[in-house]
Amino acid sequence: MSDIAHSSVTLDGRFAREFKEMAIPWRAQEAPDPHLLVLNEDLAAELGLDPVFLRSPEGLLLLTGNAVPAEASPVAQAYAGHQFGWYAPRLGDGRALLLGEIAHADGQLRDIHLKGSGRTPFARNGDGQAVVGPMLREYIVSESMHALNIPTTRSLAVVATGRPVQREALLPGAVLTRVAGSHLRVGSFQYARSADDTGLLRRLADYAIARHHRAAAGAGNRYLALFQAVVSAQATLLARWMLVGFVHGVMNTDNMTISGETIDYGPCAFMDGFDPAVVYSSIDESGRYSYRNQPVVAEWNLARLAESVLPLLHDDQEQAVDLAVEALSGFRPQYSDAWSAGMNAKLGLRQGLDAELTSPLVDELMTLLQESRADYTSFFRHLGTAARGQAEAARGQVLDPARFDAWVRRWRALAPDADAMDRVNPVYIPRNHLVEEALAAATGGNTGPLERLMDALAAPFDERPGLERYAAPAPESFGPYRTFCGT
Ligand code: AMP
Ligand code: MG
Repeated sequence: MSDIAHSSVTLDGRFAREFKEMAIPWRAQEAPDPHLLVLNEDLAAELGLDPVFLRSPEGLLLLTGNAVPAEASPVAQAYAGHQFGWYAPRLGDGRALLLGEIAHADGQLRDIHLKGSGRTPFARNGDGQAVVGPMLREYIVSESMHALNIPTTRSLAVVATGRPVQREALLPGAVLTRVAGSHLRVGSFQYARSADDTGLLRRLADYAIARHHRAAAGAGNRYLALFQAVVSAQATLLARWMLVGFVHGVMNTDNMTISGETIDYGPCAFMDGFDPAVVYSSIDESGRYSYRNQPVVAEWNLARLAESVLPLLHDDQEQAVDLAVEALSGFRPQYSDAWSAGMNAKLGLRQGLDAELTSPLVDELMTLLQESRADYTSFFRHLGTAARGQAEAARGQVLDPARFDAWVRRWRALAPDADAMDRVNPVYIPRNHLVEEALAAATGGNTGPLERLMDALAAPFDERPGLERYAAPAPESFGPYRTFCGT
């Protein structure tokens, strides 16, 4: 471990300084033979980091935490969390580190964080390692979500460490450099609450307000306003996931942010055939985190956040509970409004149309899609073509063409705007078979498929010739899809 004196990299240690109770100073393990697999040059530029430097041997030392600026103070962050409904009082970064904060071009701070950087005091039985496949999966899916305009943590780089890691086989180890608005989680507040230190809880809430929800600072009850802001951010985030067919897979409270960014891409997947009950994660046996349950689970997680901040809401506990319940009751209507507005946009309908007209139309379409198991993403894109008068492609995806034709007649009577539809219905999403193909090739040392996939995903709404295979559903031979926790 050495210091780097690269003038362009300045890492603050604000969280490390202000939350000593929740941050254990720690260092990354040595990467014996670091080798850059992918670098996000656009994001580097936004952070004021020089891509030429990041690609250099010194840069790889930074990206693996093996050398950090002299003033930096990397820490493993403490948090608690409900995992599949069961409370774990001490989770924390078992194989991750917060390197520090850096100023983004937009003027806000970003966390620079490593995943796969070795065991920490929070590692429990884990080996502290991450392997190439799951780290590249987070890179691909998080950057795709960003391109789809969905709030998310970002991925700066994945570096193969040169260390073999024991999984189902010996696999190449890797470190992901993650960039986030912050790593404050619902589980961070659960941890502070269980420490039974209202001062700590208040400081954490103030920190969250300063970094993410500044408007709350001016409210009469700033902590209630913070909670309301998190409820709103999560309600709109969940609507966006649902509209694009994203299944997170492991919505534990430690995997839900205060900022409203999507975080911790493990066994996630984009839905192909429309099936509200779909579950991809191999460990989710009860379907707790199925596609359709996601908004309900988000609300459940927010109730855990409410419990955690209760002492800040009011000195009188009963009144605090009333305030929390009232604020939480805002989740459902905000989610519904965001989802309905988003679905109207997907259908090219003007906002402000009478819901008595649009709701039955939407409901019927959803039934038709579900009965047909139509490929969710390509169906909506083809519907844009149907708005232009050529309905064949969309009609070919449903089982009952006559019902579809009747539906199209009613829908077209509302004058859908095909160009507006193309701006919200993506052509390219990280389809499961394409992600697997890119991961397998990169694990074997060939990053070509990964680079081509990233090119397609970077502009998801612009259909481009030559990229047809990136728009097409999985071949039949791909079979039912299962994802595994990002270990
Ligand atoms: P996740 O499911 O990735 O959100 O992780 C849940 C918890 O397990 C977090 O506290 C992680 O830091 C920890 N964890 C996951 N994998 C490992 C590993 N291989 N070694 C140590 N800790 C891990
Ligand atoms: Mg996690």
